[in-house]
Amino acid sequence: MAMEQIVKAFKADLAKQDAIHHAMGVLQYDSVTAMPKGGYEELAATMGYLSELDYKFQVSTERKEMLEQILAHKDEVDSVTRREAEELSEELERVSKIPMDEYVAYQMEQNVASAVWEKAKHENDYQAFKPHLEKLIDFNKRFAGYFAPEKPVYDALLDQFEKGLTMATLDQYFTAVRKEVVPLLKATQEKGRAIDESFLSRPVPVHMQQKFSDELMKILCIDREYCGIAETEHPFTTNFSKHDVRITTHYHEDAFVSSMYSVIHEGGHALYELHTGDELLGSPLAQGTSMSVHESQSRFFENIIGRSEAFCAYLLPRLQELFPQQMQDVTAEKLFLAVNNAKPSLIRTEADELTYSLHIMVRYEIEKRIFAGELSVDELPEAWNKLYKEYLGVDVPDDTHGILQDSHWAGGMFGYFPSYSLGSAYASQILARMRKELDFDGCVRRGELQPIVDWLTEHVFKYGQLKKPGEVIELACGAPFDPTFYTDYLKEKFTKVFAL
Ligand code: ZN
Repeated sequence: MAMEQIVKAFKADLAKQDAIHHAMGVLQYDSVTAMPKGGYEELAATMGYLSELDYKFQVSTERKEMLEQILAHKDEVDSVTRREAEELSEELERVSKIPMDEYVAYQMEQNVASAVWEKAKHENDYQAFKPHLEKLIDFNKRFAGYFAPEKPVYDALLDQFEKGLTMATLDQYFTAVRKEVVPLLKATQEKGRAIDESFLSRPVPVHMQQKFSDELMKILCIDREYCGIAETEHPFTTNFSKHDVRITTHYHEDAFVSSMYSVIHEGGHALYELHTGDELLGSPLAQGTSMSVHESQSRFFENIIGRSEAFCAYLLPRLQELFPQQMQDVTAEKLFLAVNNAKPSLIRTEADELTYSLHIMVRYEIEKRIFAGELSVDELPEAWNKLYKEYLGVDVPDDTHGILQDSHWAGGMFGYFPSYSLGSAYASQILARMRKELDFDGCVRRGELQPIVDWLTEHVFKYGQLKKPGEVIELACGAPFDPTFYTDYLKEKFTKVFAL
C-alpha cells in the first residue's frame, strides 16, 4: 500500500477511537452532573464495555502494522502524523502488556471506587473505602510491573502523568521548595498580621454567583459557543474537542470566592484546550501535553492573575456592582490581602499559594511509601495525620478532613499530585518570561487578558501534544526549568502581603 493510503486508513482508525473517547467522556461528565447516584453500577458496566473497545483499538494488529509502516517511512509523512505515530506506538507498547480483562476490570473498579469514596468521605468511613483503595493500589503495582519492570513502581506511575519525571527529580525539587517555604511561612506567622477575611463569608445567593461566573468567563476571554459551565461537587474541566470544552464549579453561599477561583482555575484549563492548533483537530494530540503543564496554566490564571494586586483592583468595582450589599465597604487592598491570607490548614483545595506545596509534599511522601511497600492501607490515615502535623503543624480531626479529602486515588490516579506543585513552579517561570515581552501588570489592571491568552497560545497552547512537556516549558520560559522562579515569586508576594 502507498504511504498516502496507509495514512488515510490510520486517520480513519483514529477517528473511530476518538468517537469512543467522546462517548466515554460524555458519560463520565453526565455521571457527575446529571446521573442519580443509584446508577453507578450500570454506568460502570457500560464504561467497562467501552473501555474494552478502546483497548482493542489501542492494541489491534491493524494499528500495529500501520504504525510500523509509518515509523519506517517517517520522512514521508507530515509532522502531526509522525508525532501521532510515535505517541501511539509507545502507548501500544505499554497497553499491550496489560491483559485485556485486567484493563477492563480496572476501569470498572475506578467507577465503583469513586462512588464508594464519595459516600465514605461524606460519612467519615475510611473502612468502607479501604478495600477499594487496596484494589486500585494493587492494579497500579501490577500494571507498572508489566510496562516498566525495570523501574521502581512509583517512577513508572509518575511517568504516566509527566514523561521522564522521577522521584530523584522530585526529591530535589521538593527539598528546594521546602527550604524556602518553611522559613517564609514561619516569618508570616511570627509577624502575626491580622488580615480581615470576614467579608468573604458574607452570604451571596447562588443565582448572583452564577451571574458572576458568566462575567468571569467573559473576562477570561472564553468563547461560550465552545465552552459550557455546570455545577458539580468537585470542580473540573473536560474536553471532547477544542469545540466542546466543559468546566464545572461549586457554589457555596457563604464563600463566593471559592467558586470564583474554581471558575478562574478551570477557565485556565479550558483556555488551553480551546486553543490547541487547528491542524490537530480530531487528533489524539489535540490536548494539553501533560498534567503539570495543564496545571501551570490553570494556576497561572487562578493565582498569578487572579490573586494579584492588579486583578483585585480591576475586579473590585465589578464585584461592588454585582454584590453591592456584600462588597460596598471593601477596598481593593482589603480584597488582595484577604484572598492571599496564608496559614497552615487541613484542606488542599482551599490552601493558599504559600502552603499549597506542603499539602502536595504530604501526598508525595505517602504515595512514595505506598509503592515502596512501606505503608499498608491500614496505616494510611495515621501516616497522613502525622505528616500533616509535621509539615503544616495542624491536627487532623477525622478522615473526611484527612485521608479521604481528595478524589484522585479513588480514580486510580497515583503520581498525579506532584503535577499541581510543579505546575505552580512552571507558571512562575512563565510569568518572568512573559513580563519581558508584554505589559503583564497593565493588561491585568485593565482587565484586558486577550494579549496574555494570545501569548500563551503562541508559546504553550497551540502545540497540544506536538511537543513534550519539557520542550514546551523550555520554549515558553526561554530556559530550562528552574524552581528558583517559584520560590522568588512566593517570597516577593508574601513579603508584601504580610509586610515582612
Ligand atoms: Zn486543575
